[in-house]
Amino acid sequence: MKIDIITIFPRMFVGPLTESLLSRAQEKQIVDIKVHDLRSFTEDKHHSVDDRPFGGGCGMVMKPEPIYRALKKLRPKKTKGQQVIFLSPQGKTLDQKLVKELSSYRHLILLCGHYEGVDERVMNWVDREISIGDYVLTGGELPAMVLVDSVMRMLPGVVKEASSVERDSFYNGLLDYPNYTRPEEFKGARVPEILFSGHHARVEQWRRQQSLIATWKKRPDLLKKVRLSPEEKKFISEIKRTHKRRGE
Ligand code: SAH
Repeated sequence: MKIDIITIFPRMFVGPLTESLLSRAQEKQIVDIKVHDLRSFTEDKHHSVDDRPFGGGCGMVMKPEPIYRALKKLRPKKTKGQQVIFLSPQGKTLDQKLVKELSSYRHLILLCGHYEGVDERVMNWVDREISIGDYVLTGGELPAMVLVDSVMRMLPGVVKEASSVERDSFYNGLLDYPNYTRPEEFKGARVPEILFSGHHARVEQWRRQQSLIATWKKRPDLLKKVRLSPEEKKFISEIKRTHKRRGE
């Protein structure tokens, strides 16, 4: 996959792209990420990327010309498998389903806004707007990093074991089950006995049940959307009943 990021703060990407999974994914050539300084697409001597808003009001607006030139260079013409994404609080909220969809593209071009945002005419060259949540940040750089990180995890070979991605929260519509590692006992808290049983099927069943419990407790809204087997539905009704009896 190819990812081009257009920003006025290219240095913000240095840390995230040179550490951990993202750096490994690039070394393994699973992904080719390039960060482009929007100022290099300006033609005036001050390299200006922003200007005052027409109609008055506070703040500055990002000018359309440098963005147009950058997009034209990175995507000379529209082809399948490419997406120009503007990171924006007004976009569709990023969730695991959207992350999975984005991971199927061959080429993503991410545009990071700043100040009051971009000149609205830029939207003519954008395929979609994506938000990372209902709050406003100072720029699109952190959202772009969030998007790149989450999409990368979906690409084969980035996370060592594919099954660990499939188990993650949201992938199958549920939250992840609780994990434990050594020591077996810490400050009086023991690791659940079942995990020492060596009985693979029973461990798997326990984990699925724990996922259901965690989802029910922390994100009951997710349970409405997920498809459960008749046994799992029964299990959920039982835990609801026991918790009610206990007055929880
Ligand atoms: N006035 C704009 C917000 C500007 S914030 C509005 O209300 O819509 C400056 C830039 O930060 C935006 O152009 C966008 O690129 C980025 N940004 C801010 N919050 C974001 C969010 N929740 N998700 C994605 N990008 C965001």
